[in-house]
Amino acid sequence: LAHQVVSDMSMIHPDFNITLEDELDGPSWVKMYRNHLEQVMIILIDNAVKYSKDRKEIHVSLGNNEVEVSLAIQDFGEGISPENMSRVFGRFYRVDKARSREKGGNGLGLAIAKQLIDGYHGEISVDSSLGYGSIFRINLPRITAEKAQELMDGAEPESAESAIADDI
Ligand code: ATP
Repeated sequence: LAHQVVSDMSMIHPDFNITLEDELDGPSWVKMYRNHLEQVMIILIDNAVKYSKDRKEIHVSLGNNEVEVSLAIQDFGEGISPENMSRVFGRFYRVDKARSREKGGNGLGLAIAKQLIDGYHGEISVDSSLGYGSIFRINLPRITAEKAQELMDGAEPESAESAIADDI
């Protein structure tokens, strides 16, 4: 999924160099609707594009350990000040109202991303340095390939409605 999204976003933003560093130790499954994960990645990459001016470079990286799958999206754009870092996940929050309006945002993207990730018992956070860029990190609980298969087969009664598994 991550490879697909990066390839799509590279096509949409040909002036940006969007790279993917895949350090997964093999197929890594998370329990999340494919559309939801895709939406979160699009929000983060879209923001990286919107808030980068001079250095048009975005690094996406994937990693895992036994219990988690992690995804990071780094840009080298305008960055976020320490006092705003905790606020950007709030609804309708925009650091610079005038400039964001010019870029067409309404301050909902990150709130939606956080709500989705929280809903799947994951974590989303940001590290940023004003003037140097930002890195958004997501961690999601990893499930086994067997569990993923079970979910996709609809073997678990609650699974059909609530979530399907996806290979990140
Ligand atoms: P939209 O609802 O269209 O996504 P938005 O970009 O304004 O609009 P969010 O995605 O929620 O809304 O982001 C909230 C604010 O956080 C932005 O207005 C911007 O100030 C800041 N921000 C988000 N991502 C970045 C980034 N990669 N670099 C710098 N600032 C960012």
